[in-house]
Amino acid sequence: MKHVLTIDFAKCTGCRNCELACSIHHFNTFNPARSRIRILKDDIKNIVVPMVCLQCDNPLCKEACPSEAIQENEKGILFVSSELCIGCMNCISACVYGGIAFDSTTNKAIKCDHCDGDPACLKACEYGAIEYVLDKGIGQRYKGTSIVASTFEMQKEEV
Ligand code: SF4
Ligand code: SF4
Repeated sequence: MKHVLTIDFAKCTGCRNCELACSIHHFNTFNPARSRIRILKDDIKNIVVPMVCLQCDNPLCKEACPSEAIQENEKGILFVSSELCIGCMNCISACVYGGIAFDSTTNKAIKCDHCDGDPACLKACEYGAIEYVLDKGIGQRYKGTSIVASTFEMQKEEV
């Protein structure tokens, strides 16, 4: 059985340590724009949305890729082969979770590959928002999303 990353929205503070850890691990640079985990923040509305590849069982990104650049490694983890990627961005449009990003330095798609089983983001998260656990289905991969939903609802009511 494979492992998956789970992210608890209720614990995420938006500190962005995970983005820095990811970019240093993969590209040896502290640059959130080159991170495979993305923290979307709206400081005015007080909303933090962590986004990362959910390792879908039927991945739309893989289906949309014209050059077979999205592949599975020996642990069953989907990754982007930078050798095969032609930078068409089809996968980015296909992913409904915003799990794939475009790296404008290399002009290739980038996405979480679990850092070979030892995720750098998890070690950098001081708030326990990220876990690396055995896969029990896609439902477990985002937790605490009711926090974001209720913030949206409250703000809708205030308008
Ligand atoms: S390091 Fe943890 S708390 Fe900070 S932004 Fe990333 S997931 Fe959220
Ligand atoms: S950007 Fe790369 S990985 Fe994504 S669909 Fe195009 S070729 Fe495939």
